[in-house]
Amino acid sequence: MASIFTKIIQGEIPCYKIAEDDYHFAFLDINPVSEGHTLVVPKQEVDYLFNLEDDTLKSLIIFAKKVAKAIDASLDTIRTGVVVEGLEVPHAHIHLVPIHYEGQHVGLGKKAEVSKERMIELAERISEAFKK
Ligand code: AMP
Repeated sequence: MASIFTKIIQGEIPCYKIAEDDYHFAFLDINPVSEGHTLVVPKQEVDYLFNLEDDTLKSLIIFAKKVAKAIDASLDTIRTGVVVEGLEVPHAHIHLVPIHYEGQHVGLGKKAEVSKERMIELAERISEAFKK
């Protein structure tokens, strides 16, 4: 059965889309730990990040870098942190967690309250910056 992320990539499940290319897809995490928390996913469905082929992993991290730069350019960040866990969704992904203030916890614990309207706005802002 297709993973929930494959269903998002294929448009069967809605998301706050940021960007995609032939091999990668980026969208806002529905339960963000900070505003702009983004997931970067290879379109190829492999569970464990470190089971990806070298070239796939390499291109995924380069795509994630571009998304992180777009987050930094469009939101009020100090920088963007990276978390990889993968215990909930068996489809490899990188969490990009915008760091908005000194001492912010970057792990996947406490969730931030972000309204639907704000999620739409955040996705649009990051997406626009990604295209530049
Ligand atoms: P993990 O597999 O532990 O790295 O976490 C999976 C992440 O996917 C969690 O942070 C979830 O909030 C996120 N997530 C699960 N379903 C969706 C969805 N439909 N849209 C966006 N993010 C999701």
